[in-house]
Amino acid sequence: MHIAIPAERLAGEHRVAATPETVKKLAAAGHTVAVEAGAGKAAAIPDAAYREAGASIVEQRPALLSGADIVLCVGSPDAADLDALKSGAVLAGMLSPYHNPLLPQLAAKRVSAFALELLPRTTRAQSMDVLSSQNNIAGYKAVLLACQFYPRFMPMLMTAAGTVKAARVLVLGVGVAGLQAIATAKRLGAVVEAYDVRPATREQVESLGAKFIEVPMSDEEKAASSGVYAREMTPEFLARQNELLAKRAAAADIVITTALIPGKPAPVLLPAASVAAMRPGSVIVDLAAESGGNCELTRAGEAWQSDNGVHLVGLTNLPSMVAADASSLYARNLLTFLGLLLSAEGLKIDLEDDLLAATLITHQGELRFGTTAKPAA
Ligand code: NAD
Repeated sequence: MHIAIPAERLAGEHRVAATPETVKKLAAAGHTVAVEAGAGKAAAIPDAAYREAGASIVEQRPALLSGADIVLCVGSPDAADLDALKSGAVLAGMLSPYHNPLLPQLAAKRVSAFALELLPRTTRAQSMDVLSSQNNIAGYKAVLLACQFYPRFMPMLMTAAGTVKAARVLVLGVGVAGLQAIATAKRLGAVVEAYDVRPATREQVESLGAKFIEVPMSDEEKAASSGVYAREMTPEFLARQNELLAKRAAAADIVITTALIPGKPAPVLLPAASVAAMRPGSVIVDLAAESGGNCELTRAGEAWQSDNGVHLVGLTNLPSMVAADASSLYARNLLTFLGLLLSAEGLKIDLEDDLLAATLITHQGELRFGTTAKPAA
């Protein structure tokens, strides 16, 4: 198979979909790999390293794409790129199925497109789970960003000039990113508490040495929160939840928010009034900024300071800020995923395979997303 790795085009995207390690493995399995010139530069991978691993370096992007049986990417290619793909090609990456206006074009090109965000969160999928590998990095980086804006120390320090108190960190949403944010803040010496609408997260929070905040729930609300993914909660529940969270935010120095519901706007957990009650110099890092934000005042892509001195950090694509390791983990995820498609006999899309069926959003001229490809309940 001819496998192509284009450079990512989106502003601020520094990751790349293959590394010399994965190129070497693909080449050893008999595939030819072509990498667009400069594709790895922002992830600290020079063209020479890809060449050494067995890839060819291609300057002309349209030629790279049109010659490929399989294209591996981080974000979705644009309309011109899709035009260049050959009919029947395979495209795999984080294709933003909920927001991607190009899905009809992908279907019309008869591209078999796999959106890896739709992988079920099962044990078998774990080694290909791009959401986990990338959100883990986002959770880590969120804490480091908070430190950058926070005008005080994170750990408690006893010095000859007096004692400095440990920072109080509040983490809202305890999925993969939230857990890593808790662990990172703990490692830096902060006092951490956390909240998630899924009561099952309590044990995970406590196992990291943080305190779990409990919002009382009716049996109906508990049932709605028992799945792998959170569901949209009623306005009554959100009001009750936000009243308690406003008090915890007012006591916190740093709030990291990570609450997401797949395919829906992020729930607002910190309305403007909660920010108004926070102390000057405190920091909110909103990892849900791109989905509308968990804080009402978040501006996606920006960091700004409110009138009462709270830093509101809505910077997006945090994994890209740790581009080398993010690419390395992502490329391994993709390589493992390709293993579901490729064998000694060539390429086969087995729709009986639950992981392929869940992620295949366009195939043989049909748009499958929204019909058969759905996130796990
Ligand atoms: P996510 O990014 O979809 O959401 C982050 C967190 O926000 C979730 O924990 C969610 O419950 C929480 N949230 C949503 N609405 C909220 C609200 N109103 N208030 C507070 N919190 C709210 O989550 P994720 O990191 O992608 O993880 C999703 C699920 O997948 C979790 O159950 C996780 O344990 C599971 N998971 C399983 C595997 C595996 O077994 N392969 C791997 C990774 C994650």
